[in-house]
Order: sequence, then C-alpha cells, then structure tokens
Amino acid sequence: MNLEQLWRAVLGELELQISKPNFITWLKSSRLTEKQEGIAVVSLPNNFAKEWVENKYHRQILTSLRNYDETTKKVEYRVHPTIFKTAPAQAVIAGEAQAALPDFKADPESGLNPRYSLNSFIVGSSNELAYAAALAIIKDVGKKYNPFFLYGGVGLGKTHLIQAIGNEIKSTYENKVKVRYVSSEKFTNDVIWAIRNKRMEDVKNKYRLIDVLIIDDIQFIGGKEKTEEEFFHTFNALYENNKQIIISSDRPPRSIPTLEERLRSRFEGGMIADINYPDYETRLAILKTKIQDRGMELSDGVCDLIARKIQRNIRELEGAINKIIFYQTTKNIVVDEKEAEKIISEIIQGAPKNANPSDIIKAVASFFEISQNDITGKSRKKEIVEPRQIAMFLLRDVLELSYPFIGEKLGNRDHTTAIHACEKITKEINKNQSLNQKILMIRERIYKN
Ligand code: ADP
Ligand code: MG
Repeated sequence: MNLEQLWRAVLGELELQISKPNFITWLKSSRLTEKQEGIAVVSLPNNFAKEWVENKYHRQILTSLRNYDETTKKVEYRVHPTIFKTAPAQAVIAGEAQAALPDFKADPESGLNPRYSLNSFIVGSSNELAYAAALAIIKDVGKKYNPFFLYGGVGLGKTHLIQAIGNEIKSTYENKVKVRYVSSEKFTNDVIWAIRNKRMEDVKNKYRLIDVLIIDDIQFIGGKEKTEEEFFHTFNALYENNKQIIISSDRPPRSIPTLEERLRSRFEGGMIADINYPDYETRLAILKTKIQDRGMELSDGVCDLIARKIQRNIRELEGAINKIIFYQTTKNIVVDEKEAEKIISEIIQGAPKNANPSDIIKAVASFFEISQNDITGKSRKKEIVEPRQIAMFLLRDVLELSYPFIGEKLGNRDHTTAIHACEKITKEINKNQSLNQKILMIRERIYKN
C-alpha cells in the first residue's frame, strides 16, 4: 500500500466511528504525507484543524493506522497549507488582525464596555434622532431629556448607543459624574439577592448614589413585582435629584404589557426616541468601517451584496463579516460574490424560526462528541464545561431564550449560571479565535438543519 491507499483505508474506518459532519469538517481533507521509521505524518490545512484532530482523534487514528500497518509507532501532525488549496496572503493577514483585536472588558465600576464609543456609532436616517438626543444628554446631563427612553428591534444599536452615552459622559466629565450601566436582568438579580439576604439598604444605596443610571432591555423587568417596585423608587429618587436616567427597550413603553402604569407614565414623561432599520447607505457605511477595523479588505461587489441583503439587523452584518473572515482563514476559500451569497443566505435564513433548544444542544454535543446528557449533567470537567457554556450562549444568541429557561433546560441550573456562561463566551469570542471558529462551525450546523 502506498501512503494514499493506506490513508484512504484509515479514513474508511474512521468514517464509521465519527459523526458525519465531524468527519467532513476535520478529516476529509487530511492527508498522510510521510511515513518513515514508524512515524506517520498526518497533514492538515491549518493550525486549528491540526490541534483539533490531534486532541480528539489521535487515539483512533493511531489504532487504525496500526491495524493496516503494524510498524506504525507514532503519529505526528503537521500544518501543511501548501498541499491544500491556498488563499491569498491578504486573508491570512485578516485572520491575524482579528486575533489581535483588543480585548475589551466592561469596567467593573460603571459596568460600561469601552468598545461602545460614540465615534464608532455610525449615524444615518434610522438613528439620527436618537443620536441627537444622545448628544444633548451628554451636554446637559440630567437636565434635558430625562428620562431618555430608547427603543428599537434586536441588533439595531440600542446597547451600543446607551453605553456610548455613558462612556462619553465619563470621559467628558473626567469621572466626576458617576455612571452605572446595568442590564435589567442584573438589576433584577440585585433586588432578588437583596431580598433573600435582607440587604435591601445596600441595593438602595448602590443605585441611588449614581448620577447617570443606564438600564438596558427594561422590557425584562415588566411583571416582576418586587423589582418593578424597587426600580420605581430608585427612579423617583434619582429623578427628583436631577440625575439622568437612560432606558432601552425592544418596544415603546405603552407596548410593554406587564409594565406597571405608574412606571409607564414616568417613561412617557421624558424623551422617547426609536432606532429603525438602517437604510442601504448606513448599512454600507457600517460594514465598511467594521471591515476596516479588522484590517480586512473586501471587494465593492461583496460589500454591496452584503449591504443589500442584510437589512434588518446590524449584528447580522457583523456576523457576515466574521463568517467571511472565517472562510478566508480557516477554510482557505477566497470569498467572492458567489461565496458571499452562500454565506449570507446561511445567515439570513437563520435558525430562529425552526430550530428548537434540543437541536442546539444536540449540535453542540455532536460537535464535541460528547453526549447530550453530559451537557445537561453535573460534570465540571473542562471538556464538558466549555461545551455546556457554548450551548447556553447559543440558546441565548440564536433563540433569544430567557436565562432562567436556559438554566433549567441545561440541567436545572440557576439562571445566574446561564448569565455567567453567556457573558463569558461573549467576551472570549472576541479574543479567542479558536473559540470563535468552533462556535461558527456549530452555528453552521444548526443553520443547515
Ligand atoms: P441592540 O442592543 O439594539 O440589540 P446592539 O447595540 O447590541 O443592538 O448592536 C448590535 C451590534 O451592531 C453591536 O456590535 C453594535 O456595535 C453594532 N451597531 C449597531 N448600530 C451601529 C451603528 N449605528 N454603528 C456602528 N455599529 C453599530
Ligand atoms: Mg442590546
């Protein structure tokens, strides 16, 4: 048997042991490139694949090689891009640029993430009113437009803009103005914690000593009696002292059915602005800025295509860019208009409508070759914890499920565990290229089914 025949035989065996998608992803394009003095060299197209195959399939590969050739003592793995179809140098640079994106962390004191700046917020007809209000608030904190209620659909820049206001106030007033950003889930948790531990005073103090309170996604506190009550009092205390309150929601106050009337009327007494779907020019401008930030270049044709097709969600625009980087660097595919079209259709078809939680858990389990019971079970082994956290992240990101539901679905865990997992993965994804790739690959499988 020559090397090729030997490897084909080995792959034939492995194909029976490994799930089909994993086989196609990792092994189909592998080669056996050398065999000398009992050392077999398996070549893979990139470092990511090399590490994965080495960690996951080494034992099976060694056993199978020995079945066909008993002289095999050892297997070594190498990255050998040249024997695979190569992408232009530019794509490689893009990969490095992305890996080198600065690691943004939320500031523990204010809860603000410096990634969200006013400078990086692109203004167009869809958000100019909200943007103008933001500028006015920064100039006259607490005096004009108070409270400021910002609403709009998912992924249209609410979090970005309200955090940018906070960051800008912090830097303009050199930290003399105390800003605090919290998600409404965080606020709810604080209240629940305080009730449980009889520490309501702590929470009151924490929130009432602030000059600018920013609460994201207020629709989630609707219907939670104690939390609404506490929020109402915090709101009044701040408002009466001319402190600035900034609130975001996915819909206007009157459309949050569970919101108490007295809160609703407070919100309606201030400035209400919405963010709409961005028009083509705005989408193109956002796209070009983000591509540039990552040190990438894409042809005008590809940019135009993405901006035309992805209309309703800026997060999806970013998703398209990430995916293109991924294709160029990992799969060694040059993304032209035809490839871009494919990538986009995967993104906009989206899973949300037809995937259910079990599909996601199943996809994660099969990707990591662990059982679904491992994911929902008790194990705290690293090989299980990471997939579990990824599953939580995807349940949130793809299906927008609530944290309590996610916790319950994944082995009756507390909602704070789910929050922690989602926050951790969100943060890691930006600095850990390999994690980003794993998640994109799992997404791809969820979207395909
Ligand atoms: P929302 O809170 O409305 O769901 P986000 O603020 O999280 O949306 O925005 C989703 C993504 O799109 C973020 O990464 C954000 O930086 C980006 N984004 C949204 N609007 C803009 C904009 N006008 N300019 C630049 N980036 C934007
Ligand atoms: Mg948001």
